[in-house]
Amino acid sequence: RTVYLNGDYLPEAEARVSVFDRGFVMADGVYEVVSVLDGKLIDFEGHQARLKRSLDALEIRNPLSDDEYLTAFRELVQRNGIDEGLVYLQVTRGNPGDRDFAYPPADTPPTVVAFTQSKPGLADNPAARTGLKIVTLPDERWGRRDIKTVQLLYPSMAKMAAKAQGADDAWLVQDGTVTEGTSNNAYILRGNTIITRELSHDILHGITRQAVLRFADEAQMSVEERAFTPDEAKSADEAFITSASAFVMPVVEIDGTPVGSGKPGPVAARLREIYIDEMRRRAI
Ligand code: PMP
Repeated sequence: RTVYLNGDYLPEAEARVSVFDRGFVMADGVYEVVSVLDGKLIDFEGHQARLKRSLDALEIRNPLSDDEYLTAFRELVQRNGIDEGLVYLQVTRGNPGDRDFAYPPADTPPTVVAFTQSKPGLADNPAARTGLKIVTLPDERWGRRDIKTVQLLYPSMAKMAAKAQGADDAWLVQDGTVTEGTSNNAYILRGNTIITRELSHDILHGITRQAVLRFADEAQMSVEERAFTPDEAKSADEAFITSASAFVMPVVEIDGTPVGSGKPGPVAARLREIYIDEMRRRAI
């Protein structure tokens, strides 16, 4: 596989980052995941906008222009022959040459890494036909989940705990309400209303969420941005998640309780179809 590192395209075994890199010793970096369908990038602009917000929040200099990121992503997709899959991008505060809590001088070059993963069946995903089983777990992450940092240990622990309970993933609960999934935004449907938590520091501002809510609005569905409890979710008509790599994915069970019919719901299926069709058309 060919990967990108600070301006170079290298075989993965030759791409090396310092042991002093702030990303490695401090999880001091941010990332983005952009899906690829038909060899093209899905919602590149949305992910670029959030990358800038994350970098700004951490005062990490953005080392590349939008065009430079676009060129690098396209080059990786082409060199690695990706038809369906994703591009992972990580920008860290770079290598200060020593370990220190203080940020290094502002002229320290950030480290930019990007690579691809091939995922055939991303659009025609069999999981969309069966739906996901979710368990709820306490949200024990830090308080700035709106910044997409590479500090992913709690989400990893929660996914492992969910799998150990025979579920596919977890929804995280804080003060009695669902914040989001370990790596996705969470939704329920009551009657004709799609309900999803409002934006704040408590959740990642999903780029897929933004697009799906826009499409729901265009399709004259009603949307309520508010917190909901696990109990409300268990008695909802449907439940689903969104993320850049899962698109829209139905949830059919929460803590062992079937949601609605216990089968993927029609609204989640419709939103998945609209999202994939529209985003495929706009891919670059
Ligand atoms: N919340 C969390 C915690 C996530 O990790 C992700 C995906 N990285 C999302 C939500 C979904 O965001 P997006 O739609 O931009 O992939």
